[in-house]
Amino acid sequence: MAKNIWVFCEQRDGELQDVAIELLGVARELADKVGERVVALLLGHGISDKAKELVGYGADEVRVVDHKNLDKYITEYYAQAVTQIVKANDPSVVLFGATSIGRDLAPRLSARLWTGLTADCTKLEMDDNGNLMMTRPAFGGNLFATIICPDHRPQMSTVRPGVMKKPAFDKARRGEIINEEIKWDDSKAVVKIVEEVKEEKTVEKIESAKILVSCGRGVKDLKPAYQVAKKLKGTVSCSRCLVDTGVLDHQRQVGQTGKTVRPDAYLAFGISGAIQHLAGMEEAEYIVAVNVDKTAPIFKVANLGIVADAVEVMKHLDKML
Ligand SMILES: Cc1cc2nc3c(=O)[nH]c(=O)nc-3n(C[C@H](O)[C@H](O)[C@H](O)COP(=O)(O)OP(=O)(O)OC[C@H]3O[C@@H](n4cnc5c(N)ncnc54)[C@H](O)[C@@H]3O)c2cc1C
Repeated sequence: MAKNIWVFCEQRDGELQDVAIELLGVARELADKVGERVVALLLGHGISDKAKELVGYGADEVRVVDHKNLDKYITEYYAQAVTQIVKANDPSVVLFGATSIGRDLAPRLSARLWTGLTADCTKLEMDDNGNLMMTRPAFGGNLFATIICPDHRPQMSTVRPGVMKKPAFDKARRGEIINEEIKWDDSKAVVKIVEEVKEEKTVEKIESAKILVSCGRGVKDLKPAYQVAKKLKGTVSCSRCLVDTGVLDHQRQVGQTGKTVRPDAYLAFGISGAIQHLAGMEEAEYIVAVNVDKTAPIFKVANLGIVADAVEVMKHLDKML
């Protein structure tokens, strides 16, 4: 019978990605509910030393494939490795980060493993029969659908970075580390990486900012937003509106089709609080909303609401800080 909750723990250039740790946290909760084990799957080349870290974040077992074929992400080699290990072990659940790698790999595996895949989940729970209840936005984000995969195993889902909370690291945790051998079929791996060109990030990562000064259509002047963000050691983010109108880069967009953020403080200026925007920021620790319209939906999720002109408030803040 299929059992255990597996997490594909993505690394890039030997660095574990935050989403891998976030998924270990949710996997731990699911596994504890059904009395099963959390298994981390770590693939790459020269990455074996990362296995212990995954144990500290909640894995009971780490399956490692350390091979030169996995040095850079190539769909076919990664798909071969995961398919073989999953088929040999019959896990109940396999979770992936909804990163460019996870979004490429998970559908390939779902076809090879003849099972379903629910993408971009925002909530994962286990029912009493071991069915994973995978909740994700549907119909343009206007409602949430909970999907189950009762007839096939493993149950697979992707979760976007930042949606789940990172568990604390416990260096006292003990776990088993298993090195896996893969039977490679080189004839299928027709894609070769000829050159790698790293994208130059022009914008600070909004996902890792502790304070976000977020602007929407109601902000007519962004200068005070940058000044306030600088003084607070924060970053400027925005609603989709400012991206669609070409005012700010997509890397700064918060929401369903942007980034999911969990800052300590989210200062929302001139943002109405559409459901697609809330989906990306409502888990922020403390939310301050400034809006001229006292009925704006953003006030429903705000810890502190100010009915006022956004730019005026920012200018006052700038003077006070
Ligand atoms: C499939 C889909 C995906 C989407 N994904 C995203 C997403 O990822 N992120 C996202 O943000 N949106 C997304 N949207 C768009 C979303 O539905 C909203 O249209 C968008 O969030 C609105 O942006 P806004 O709040 O800046 O603008 P508006 O909704 O126009 O709100 C502007 C607000 O500013 C207030 N205001 C006006 N003047 C002032 C002033 N002087 N001072 C203070 N307040 C003022 C107004 O009262 C109003 O509440 C998506 C939509 C769809 C259909």
